Amino acid sequence: MMGFWWRPLSVLASVMLVALMLWAGSGWVAALGFLTGIQAFVMLRRLWQEYRLSRWLENPDEVTPPDAGGSWGDIFYRLEKLQRRQRASRSELTSALEQFEHAAQAVPDGMVILNGNEQIDWCNPASRKYLGLDCVRDRGQFIRYLLRQAHFIEFLDAADYSRRMVCKSPIDRETTLSLQLVPFGEDKKLLVARDITDLERVDAMRRDFIANVSHELRTPLTVVGGFVETLADAPDLPASESRRYFDLMLDHTRRMQHLLDDLLTLSRLESADHTLKDEPVNVPELAQALKTEAESLSRGRHRIILQIDSGAWLKGNLQEIRSALGNLVSNAVRYTPEGGEIRLRWNVRADEGVFAVTDTGEGIAAEHLPRLTERFYRVDRSRSRETGGTGLGLAIVKHVLTRHDARLEIQSAPGKGSTFSAVFPPQRMQHPSAAERETVIPFPGRTQAAG
Ligand code: ADP
Repeated sequence: MMGFWWRPLSVLASVMLVALMLWAGSGWVAALGFLTGIQAFVMLRRLWQEYRLSRWLENPDEVTPPDAGGSWGDIFYRLEKLQRRQRASRSELTSALEQFEHAAQAVPDGMVILNGNEQIDWCNPASRKYLGLDCVRDRGQFIRYLLRQAHFIEFLDAADYSRRMVCKSPIDRETTLSLQLVPFGEDKKLLVARDITDLERVDAMRRDFIANVSHELRTPLTVVGGFVETLADAPDLPASESRRYFDLMLDHTRRMQHLLDDLLTLSRLESADHTLKDEPVNVPELAQALKTEAESLSRGRHRIILQIDSGAWLKGNLQEIRSALGNLVSNAVRYTPEGGEIRLRWNVRADEGVFAVTDTGEGIAAEHLPRLTERFYRVDRSRSRETGGTGLGLAIVKHVLTRHDARLEIQSAPGKGSTFSAVFPPQRMQHPSAAERETVIPFPGRTQAAG
């Protein structure tokens, strides 16, 4: 501060000294003339500097600050410093705002800022996708007039910030949204709209699955329970009758056992930590064992043919492949009436390994084909049950094949029969050496050596 006063005071003192010297040497007229001249000069200079200052203040961003010496230079310098500081904080604020804008645009959830009157202050682009709001057009609009669903109005009025509202998107009825209100600031609210369509779908699948399993278990349990009651109430039942009841009970118990086995297999296949352990799978030998299995299931009711056109093996999990191909074979036996023919064939087609099971059974209408691998999907529920089906066989097949990068191809015509083919990609194929061919790979339930 002292620096500011020092210069004008010293100039004033010098002027006064000169005026006194003039007065003493040349008389008071000369001194007065000198002082008047100095004052006129100071006034003109001040006017000039004020003019420059006002011009600069009109447009400080574009015009460079005036360059002056003395106290005016000091004032200009300080003003310029102030202006530079303001400019820096403005640009910091702008970049923070830009960052916020970018982040808000990248957020996948719809976000709407409402003021105390529930008017839209701001909304992000995702709110257009989910709620149909337009960030520019709808600014200042009352949210309750834009989203008029009665449930939403109730939700707004309740102002219960712990609650979430689940509703369909007003833009797309296939999309399910979870809405949440979050209060902030003085009286503002943030409305967040999250897409929970996938979660809902998984939840619905889980509910369906539990309902299906319960339904599948209820029938055999009711039957077994009923027979137990009958046997308990009538201890003197003739031996042949009670034998029949025991057989039926055993039948239903086995059905439950199959269902649980299939459920466990599916759950094991689905568990994330269940990684595939690759091993060489001797498919010709496995095919031979599957043929034997088919014969035992068929009990002479069908003609079973095995056709091995390739000596190739597979790389994969023997247990899983055996279970998948076994399901195809067992389905062919179960859905082919007596006297029919079942053909198992292993061949290589365009570097891909194809294990095909062809039957002359009842066949499947085209509209069912895309859904056959869904859990518990059956074309004919009672036929499946009669033959001991669980409705999970093809779901297991699909899982196993997917884990082996393979696919299931189905060709079928009602009344003519079906071909279910497991098609393995070239990277899963293995061409064994003569030494390997000699090695017999043991696998569970193998009833006959390779022929
Ligand atoms: P299931 O235990 O009921 O056989 P799957 O998942 O193995 O269950 O098969 C699903 C449905 O596909 C079966 O219920 C049946 O309607 C149909 N299906 C499967 N294989 C054949 C086949 N070889 N011939 C005719 N229909 C079949």
